[in-house]
Amino acid sequence: MKAHEELFFLVKNNRELLRNLLPREDADRVMSDVDACLSLGPDEGAVRLRRLLQRYKPVRKWLEEELYGESERLRSQLPGYPKVPLLRYVCPCRECGYEKLFSQAPDPLPLCPEHEEPLVIAEEKGLGRECA
Ligand SMILES: [Zn+2]
Repeated sequence: MKAHEELFFLVKNNRELLRNLLPREDADRVMSDVDACLSLGPDEGAVRLRRLLQRYKPVRKWLEEELYGESERLRSQLPGYPKVPLLRYVCPCRECGYEKLFSQAPDPLPLCPEHEEPLVIAEEKGLGRECA
C-alpha cells in the first residue's frame, strides 16, 4: 500500500481514536472536516487529511508512530515480512531443482553440489540445458 493510502485507511478505520486525540473544543469541527476528506477517496483525501491533522501534535505523533514508527518496526519482525528482496539462484541443468536464496548477488557464483555448474539467476534458467 502506498503511504498516502496507508494514512487514509488508518484515519478511516480509527475515527474514534482520532477524535480522542483532538482537543475537545475542536473535535466536532475537525471530525466533520475529516469525514469530508474521507469522502474524497485515498488520493486527494490523504493530502488534505495530512494538512488538516498536522496542526494537532498528539495526532501527528500518533500518525508518525503508526505509519513510520514503532508499529512498523514491530511489523517488520513478524515472520514472513519481506526484509530484503531475495534473489533466487538455480542450477542451470534442466532436470535439477537445486536452488539457493541470496539477499545480494553472490560473487563468485556458487556451484550446484550435484552438477558442479555455476548457479544462474532463476529468471535466466528458461528450460535449462542438458547436463551430464
Ligand atoms: Zn544441478
